[in-house]
Order: sequence, then structure tokens, then C-alpha cells
Amino acid sequence: MAEERIRAALAEATDTGQVVIAPGTLASVAEVVERSLGAGPVQVVADATTWRVAGEEVQRRLEAAGHATEAPYRFPPDTLVLASYDNVERVRDALAGHDAVPVAVGSGSLNDIVKRAAHEAGRPYVVVATAASMDGYTAFGAAITRDGYKQTMTCPAPLAVVADLEVLAGAPPAMTASGYGDLLGKITAGADWLVADALEVEPIDRRVWQLAQGPLRAAIGRPAELAGGDREALERLVEGLVLSGLAMQAHASSRPASGAEHQFSHLWEMESLGHDRSPPLSHGVKVGVGTVAIAALYERLLDRDLAAVDVEALRRAWPGPEQAEAAVRAAHTTPGLDEAAVAETLAKHADQATLARRLATLADRWPLLRDRLRAQLLPAAKLRELLAAAGAPTRPAELGLTAQAFRDTYPRARMIRRRYTVLDLAFETGTLDGLVDELFAPGGFWAD
Ligand SMILES: [Zn+2]
Repeated sequence: MAEERIRAALAEATDTGQVVIAPGTLASVAEVVERSLGAGPVQVVADATTWRVAGEEVQRRLEAAGHATEAPYRFPPDTLVLASYDNVERVRDALAGHDAVPVAVGSGSLNDIVKRAAHEAGRPYVVVATAASMDGYTAFGAAITRDGYKQTMTCPAPLAVVADLEVLAGAPPAMTASGYGDLLGKITAGADWLVADALEVEPIDRRVWQLAQGPLRAAIGRPAELAGGDREALERLVEGLVLSGLAMQAHASSRPASGAEHQFSHLWEMESLGHDRSPPLSHGVKVGVGTVAIAALYERLLDRDLAAVDVEALRRAWPGPEQAEAAVRAAHTTPGLDEAAVAETLAKHADQATLARRLATLADRWPLLRDRLRAQLLPAAKLRELLAAAGAPTRPAELGLTAQAFRDTYPRARMIRRRYTVLDLAFETGTLDGLVDELFAPGGFWAD
């Protein structure tokens, strides 16, 4: 079943031709590489840990199969390999010395670094996964921090992905929990796409939607088993993450897999939340808490009758671009992020006429949209339970966030990406501040 779903998804994919998910697939890495690249030379790229858990074996198998290889590129031991642009440049410069195709051996950061470096060197790449920690393996684009701003840089997905379930099962449990958090985020990401579709901001592509959302419920259904080391639960998680990545690849955008929950995560990331921890807080952990936060916001929003908003009053009170920019500058002072947030906010800032039209559309469609959102979402309390069962943090304090910083994330996260989400819907209907107040008031979801 899983294999069939992956095969069907690969038919939609523009870059990736092979995805191999099974126990012991490291043994077939040379055949996978050969099917993708023929006999051309390759270079393994790894860090100290991923070299030990898989890179060394990959290198050995490639050599044993008579495949031409360059000496492996290994990041120095005891360095934290972040997905920053200087690391992209390092790998790109290493690639410039030969014409081999890189084989990334690693997870989130390493995959993103090699994905972008290969693209800048004008080459494809292949990835051997070392943890089920995020959905970026098969995704279009790489999340890279440059000049203080974490952005999705354009670059094709890999030609092939090798995911050896034995290797993934040996990854630190926190990394698997992180992958679970990233996957759980598709619940709210899907809701945000429903909103953007209903308001004619960004239409849903049904086939792509199905790729990301189809296997989701089954993949998130057994968090306790996943945390307990159950192989089938792990396989489901990997499948969900791979399909989510393939959905982004088919759509050439992260929209199918990333909504306001990711804006929370990206904001915290760019403000270096948890970078001082060892290991640093991973992407999926932040996405997981963001998912609970956004689901809680949706719950409050769905109790409102948005068909009854006073369109004329909202239109009259709507800020112009100068006011919008001033609000962003007041909320964001981190160098790099500040300018980017201004550009991102202004890119989606509606004029008064557009706002009025959108609110009229909302009034028409609210009853239907509300039903669809209720069917898509899970209660925030349920999401928190699922995350906890997977062994992932569920509360802002566990990430090192103060209550105030967490609360401020609701309005601030909206500003950092042009993607239209529930945060924009709440802002444009003049309900965002009131809804956030409710969440933190006595009896509210984040009251304690
Ligand atoms: Zn993600």
C-alpha cells in the first residue's frame, strides 16, 4: 500500500525518480545511485555523526560496486552544522573542484545545505536519510538562513531518496518526535490552505492536496507506538513525511505542507530560540507547538460568526501601506528579519477595495468554510495529547519561551511571510487581538 502511494506520488514529481523506504536499504544504495546517475562519479557529504551512522557504509558500498567516487566531504567533528548560507558555500566550493554528484547523508540541515549547494554547482543530488525528523527530503527548495533571514531558496528536490528504516530507528528519539511534530503541522497547514482557497487568495490543487492530506490521519494516529520504537508506526511517519515533501515538489511551493504553524517555528528559529541548547531545538519540535497554538486560535475563531463582520467599518479602519510598515517595524527589530518582514507583509497587504471584496466573499462562504475547517482540524487539546505521546514538547515554556514572547508570536508571526493564513484572516476581520486575549484569559487554552 505504502509503496503504491509513493509510486503514484512519484508520477507527479518533477525531480525525484526513486524513493526507497525499507529496513536495510543502505545495502542497495549503489544500485539506487546507478539507476539515477549511471556510472558518473559521486561524492558523499556528511557530518561526523551521519558519517558514522550511514556515510561510511554508503562510501564502502559505492566503492565495492565499482562506482567512481571523490573523497568524501565531511564537516569537521564537534561543529554544529546549521542550514546557513556559509555552509552552502562551503559545500559548493568543494563541489567546484570536480564534477561528481553529491550524495547527502544526513537529515534536515545537511539535506538542505547539499540541495542548495548542488543546485548552485549546476548538479543534481541524491540523499540518504538518517532521521525521520522533517519532511524536507523530497521537498522542492531548501530552508537556508542568510543575513539573518530564514528563507526557502529555490532548488530542485533530489533524484533519489534512500531511507533505511534501521538507520532511522537508530536516530535519537527526539529527532523522530520532531518529524512527528512536522507532520502534525499538516493539519493546520491544510486548514490555512482551505481558508486561502475559499477567499480566492490561493486555489487548492486537489491532487497535490491529496498527496499531503490523504495519508495524514493514518500517519499521525499512533504516536505512543512511534515513541516506543514500533517499526510500522515509524514507516507510516516516514511515508507521511515523504509524501508531504512530494506534494511540495509537485506544487513547486511549500503551501501544501506549511501554514501559520510554520510561521511560528520560522520566527522562533530566526530569533535563535533554542540554538544554545545541545542539541538545538529542532524544526519539528517548534512546528509541533506552533500547531497546537494555531489550532487553539482556530477553535476560538470558529466560534465567531464571521459572516456578520461589519465590512464597511473594517474597510474604513484598514491601515494603508505606510501604517502596515510602521506596525512591522515596531514588532520586528532583528537585523535582516526586520527588512524581510516589511517586504513580506507588504507583498500580501490588501488595499481597501480588495479587503472589502474579500470580506464579502467570506460572508458568503463562511458557513461552508467553517464546516470544512471543523472537518479538517483536530482540537488543540487533542493535538497536545498526540504530541506528548510522541515524546515531543507541547508547551512554550519547554521551548524556553516566556508567556509574553509566546503570546506576541501570534501577531508577529503573521508578518514574516507573505503566505495567507488564519492569522491574516483573523487580522483582516479585526478579530486577531481579541482572539489572542481569549486564549490567555482565565479559562483560555493558554491560561495556565
Ligand atoms: Zn516543516
